[in-house]
Amino acid sequence: MKIAIASGKGGTGKTLVSTNLFNVIQKEGSNVRLIDCDSEEPNVCQFLHGTLEEEIITTTHIPVIDGRKCTFCGKCQEYCSYNAIIMLPAIKTIQVIEDLCHDCGACSYACQYDAITENKKVTGSITQYRIAPNADVLESQIEIGIYSPVPIIGQAIAMADDDAVTIFDSPPGTSCPFIATVERAEFVILVTEPTPFGLNDLKLSVETLRKLNKPFTVIINRFGLGNAMIENYLKQEEISLLGLIPFDKKIATAYASGQLITDEFPEYFRLFESLYHQILKQNQQ
Ligand code: SF4
Ligand code: SF4
Repeated sequence: MKIAIASGKGGTGKTLVSTNLFNVIQKEGSNVRLIDCDSEEPNVCQFLHGTLEEEIITTTHIPVIDGRKCTFCGKCQEYCSYNAIIMLPAIKTIQVIEDLCHDCGACSYACQYDAITENKKVTGSITQYRIAPNADVLESQIEIGIYSPVPIIGQAIAMADDDAVTIFDSPPGTSCPFIATVERAEFVILVTEPTPFGLNDLKLSVETLRKLNKPFTVIINRFGLGNAMIENYLKQEEISLLGLIPFDKKIATAYASGQLITDEFPEYFRLFESLYHQILKQNQQ
C-alpha cells in the first residue's frame, strides 16, 4: 500500500501525521517505509533517528553539443518538447539550457551528425536510514542550484517497497512536486487546519486530486481552533473525514522538540492506531 500524506500548504501538520503514522505501523510490527519527498526541505529525520544504511547520489544527463560537428540542421530543437535548446545559426551558436532540460534523450536520438554527447550532473541524494528491523526512512535531498525536485522525487518513489506500507511525505502546495508524489500513491491523505488559509489550500488540493482521479480523505489538524468551515466544506463536497487531531499545546511542544506524540502520549498512540486501521478498511473497500 502506497499512501501519500499531503497538504495544499506548509505548516499544516503533514510531517506530524506521516512520522506518527509510520511510528504506530512500525510498533504494530508491519513492514513500513517512509519516503521524505519534500526534497527541498526534508525534515522527517528530525523526528525519526536510525542508522545510516546507504546514500545514493542522484544524477541527470545533460546534452553537450559539439559546435564543430553541428550543421545547425535544427532537428534536435524540433524534437525538444521543453524548449531547452537555443539555436542561432546566423552566428553559429547552439546551446542547451540545463534548467529546462528534462533528460529525455530526444535530442541525442534526433542528431544524425554525432554532435551530441551527454554529461552527468548531480541532482541530489537519497539516503536510507534503518529505524527498526521492519522500518526504514528514505530522505530525498535536492542539490543546491538544481531547478526542479521532480526527477529526484521520482527516483525516491521508485524505491517504494512492495512488501511494506510505504508512506510518501509530500512536498507542500499543488504544483509539480506535489503531483509527482501523489500520482504514484494509491491513496492520499490531505492534512488541513481550520483556518481560512487551510480551507483555501484544501480546495486547491481537492480540485487537483479530483482531476488526477485519486482516492483521498482528510485529516483536520489543530481541531478546535477556528470554526466549522472545513467540516461544512467536506459535507458539501461529500469528502470523507478520516480523523481529527486536537489543537493541543502539548502536541506543539513535543513537535518543536523533535519528539513523536505517539511515543510521548498514549492517547495519541491510540488515535494514530485508529487512523491506521481506518485507512486499512478504506483501502480494502
Ligand atoms: S541535430 Fe545535431 S547537427 Fe542538427 S542542430 Fe542539433 S546538434 Fe546540430
Ligand atoms: S534531453 Fe530532452 S529536454 Fe533535454 S535538451 Fe535534449 S530533447 Fe530537450
